[in-house]
Amino acid sequence: MSRPRLSKSKYVIGLQCPRRLWWTVHERGAPELVPDAALRAVFARGNRVGEVAREHVPGGVLIEIDWRRLSHAVRETAKVIADGASVIYEACFAESGVFVAVDVLERAGDGWVLAEVKSTTSAKATHIDDAAIQTHVVEAAGLSVERVEVMHLNRECVFPDLSNLFARTDVTEEVRAHLPEVPARVEELRDCLEGDLPDAEIGDRCKTPYDCPFMGRCWPELPADHIGELFRLGKKKREELTDLGCETIDAIPAETSLTDMQVRQREAVVTGEVVVEAGLPERIRDFELPLTYLDFEAINPVIPVWPGCHPYGQVVVQFSVHHEDADGVVEHREWLAEPGRDPQEESIEELLAATAGARRVAAYHASFERSRINELAKRFPQYAERLGDLAAKLIDLLPVVRGNVYHPGFHGSFSLKSVLPALVPEESYAHLAVADGYTAATALEAYLLAPEAMSDAEREKTRRDLLAYCKQDTWSLVVLARALRGLAGGAG
Ligand code: SF4
Repeated sequence: MSRPRLSKSKYVIGLQCPRRLWWTVHERGAPELVPDAALRAVFARGNRVGEVAREHVPGGVLIEIDWRRLSHAVRETAKVIADGASVIYEACFAESGVFVAVDVLERAGDGWVLAEVKSTTSAKATHIDDAAIQTHVVEAAGLSVERVEVMHLNRECVFPDLSNLFARTDVTEEVRAHLPEVPARVEELRDCLEGDLPDAEIGDRCKTPYDCPFMGRCWPELPADHIGELFRLGKKKREELTDLGCETIDAIPAETSLTDMQVRQREAVVTGEVVVEAGLPERIRDFELPLTYLDFEAINPVIPVWPGCHPYGQVVVQFSVHHEDADGVVEHREWLAEPGRDPQEESIEELLAATAGARRVAAYHASFERSRINELAKRFPQYAERLGDLAAKLIDLLPVVRGNVYHPGFHGSFSLKSVLPALVPEESYAHLAVADGYTAATALEAYLLAPEAMSDAEREKTRRDLLAYCKQDTWSLVVLARALRGLAGGAG
């Protein structure tokens, strides 16, 4: 029987955890291996960056890979090299039981430059293993690798000039330092695949460098109110609590030294009641009526598409505003960018109009809104003064909650989606088609950057869903502030 073969990705998976590799290879149909929407978006982004990277190393020959006929791609690569190609995309090699496809292989004198394309904005330590296994295989195939590079996105690039979209970081030295270990690691992993399911200890490896999809199999189910929910629980304190035999928050002895926040958490879990600090009335005073509530939705295209934007630069493409007057009467305003046009200046005009006359502007985790407003002010100095006035009015509900209120239903999280249903159970996002920030950002990117892939009906539905989601976010702030005022009335 032939020995199992590895690919670059399986090698990297095996380095993270041999047990993960074993399941990946021997249970290809495992439900955990079906990529979710988030992972599919990561793959799509990587593919797009890979395609654009080729345009930045022009004149190459692309090896078409049919994953059922890899030997054909390897033969095709050998032929293209023999024919004198100076640049090859997806150059395929299979040696020593490992198959690799090199993103970009460039001839340099008598040798070659091997470039691994990444959609990050810098070369990372985890890229070295990727590059090392490729270098090992390419050299085993008889090519001389003169230099190894990680070709990653360049934060300095500013649309519309995409000539410097990529930066190339020389990692030859780091890769050479890893190479002597590669053959033994390859053999270990191939041996592992020939044996029974290996043991592996759970720990940091399960999340580093990537989240392992098999955590549901290896990690024990945690009891409700596990100590892991304690806010900013350090490793040392966690070990101390574990040594004391505390698995759940309510088991922590009263004399144990904890932060103020953790003490509040323990009290809430032990009593099953919301805990309100005496300082809440003072802190909520800034949020008295009339008050304006603001929420931004932004996208951060990996490859910038609007003037002045960098790779991964955040661009506001939607907002919702609720105004609540002194009598509690609420008005709503909203804006969502249109596909096919630069939303930046329009977002400023709409935002200034929607917040005109506001006494204070409340947001949740307001540093996000503040950063976006400051960026817009820098990019469009003609609006800087008015945007500066708006930024000065921003106040943040998050620290008010975090510093003064804890409900056992928060389960250690102060995100609006955790806080709101605990304090205001009748409010929920459950009825919405878009119900979380990640789904919203993905839908916004599709709606704005690839509208041609949607039918008119899909576009219209996406628009409605996005508007409903953002509106719910500021409505949530209205009811949260009301709930906090109510709690403040009974505090102390
Ligand atoms: S959950 Fe952890 S131990 Fe289990 S397979 Fe994944 S990485 Fe390995």
